[in-house]
Amino acid sequence: MKVAFVSSEIYPFAKTGGLADVSYSLPKAISQHGIKVISMMPLYKTVDREKFGIQETDIEIEVNLPKKTYTFKIYKLKNNVKYYFFYNKELFDRDYLYGPPEGDYPDNYLRFGAFSYAVIEFFKKTGFYPDIVHTNDWQTALIPVLIKDKYKLDIKTIHTIHNIAYQGVFESFVIDELDLGWHLFNMDALEFYGKVNFLKGAIVFSDAITTVSPTYAREICTPEYGFGLDGVLRAHCHKLYGILNGIDYDIWNPETDPYIYENYNETTIEKKDINKKKFLEEYGLSDETKPLFIFIGRFAKQKGIDIIQQSILEMASMNANFAILGSGDKVYNDFFNSIRNKYPNIFIKVGYDEPLSRKMYASADFLLMPSIYEPCGLNQMIAMRYGTLVVARKTGGLADTVIDIDLPAGYGILFENPTKTEFLRAINRAKELYRDKKRFYRLREFVMTLDFSWESSASKYIRLYEELKFGFPKGV
Ligand code: ADP
Repeated sequence: MKVAFVSSEIYPFAKTGGLADVSYSLPKAISQHGIKVISMMPLYKTVDREKFGIQETDIEIEVNLPKKTYTFKIYKLKNNVKYYFFYNKELFDRDYLYGPPEGDYPDNYLRFGAFSYAVIEFFKKTGFYPDIVHTNDWQTALIPVLIKDKYKLDIKTIHTIHNIAYQGVFESFVIDELDLGWHLFNMDALEFYGKVNFLKGAIVFSDAITTVSPTYAREICTPEYGFGLDGVLRAHCHKLYGILNGIDYDIWNPETDPYIYENYNETTIEKKDINKKKFLEEYGLSDETKPLFIFIGRFAKQKGIDIIQQSILEMASMNANFAILGSGDKVYNDFFNSIRNKYPNIFIKVGYDEPLSRKMYASADFLLMPSIYEPCGLNQMIAMRYGTLVVARKTGGLADTVIDIDLPAGYGILFENPTKTEFLRAINRAKELYRDKKRFYRLREFVMTLDFSWESSASKYIRLYEELKFGFPKGV
């Protein structure tokens, strides 16, 4: 079985969020089962070609669009045929993947539309026709549309929705500019309130749709979480599957993590306290007897960052330390920058910093995730792998991976409604748990033994691939 995995970001080459982690670790886990997977992504300016040994091949792809022809040069890793990078200077030689903090690049439809064509032209040019094309999020959502409607290839397509809020919605002129054909501009295909919706196209045309947790699969079929696509999803729910993401246990491992102060595992978990002590020292916080709460993530409404913003005064007056790392929407960046050195018990860094994030996972007592919605969430799994307990809103993948301590076999703290009151109450429950040292130590050791690896999820994807290719009985 041959699979082409196409994504707009793949760790470690380019990453803005969890999509990149999944696009690295899922193909890796699948290929360990003997399936040949090649991964494809655009070659952005920010990708460090030298560091990763990315080399030009002699493959050149032409994408003929009505207004212009775009040429993509194909790159690959030295001595490795698992990754292919698509380079077009005009479209991808820019400072950001999707646009600066002020907003998306206006020609993103063209950038990712042309890339989508280039992927299919790559199959034609090289003769590498996969059995399955696995696409991800709106950036690659036109690929199943083109495969089925334009190229009419005998390739099965599976599309994963990592976050339904981002749909790739553009004015109707893109039908002409991308030569999609006006027959697709109708309610049963790409049309969405007078505009063109890339993600809707993937939902309609893919052979299977997956999303990244069972709870989120149910949630996106409701008006509250569907961002306008719930009706389309309900109409296509016979091919919708919720498969939980995993994390890569080689990458996220406190025993080998080169960035943390002291390596540890569940049998040497007391070294976590050394990490905490050194972290507090390095980042200007004091008193290791206080619990340390961390937040790591995109500064976006989705992540409940408003709730943290509204709670900041209460947090500042608590007998606890907080460390906040993230970046995103300008209003939040500005707010957190403006209070950066204001409160002695709150460390803030606005930016993207993986080494720091690793130190935080290793040093913290609790991770805060007050998400409004959370398709799967990786942070909570990473945190637990590092022996950090999770305080989260009960939604999406958080509801699937965390059990509240008040329930039998519980090991985290969940709250129902995304409000400041419930959030602060949850922090107070965490503080109470922290005071009960015996229980706290037992739980932090326990969460380290939970299995959030890709193993079981990868086999679910493989069954789905087989089902699509061979028509096996259903049952993912
Ligand atoms: P998202 O909705 O952003 O995809 P996920 O929980 O699925 O959220 O994945 C987030 C990933 O990005 C995790 O690996 C997390 O550690 C990382 N991350 C998010 N923000 C930052 C940041 N500012 N610095 C370092 N890593 C970050």
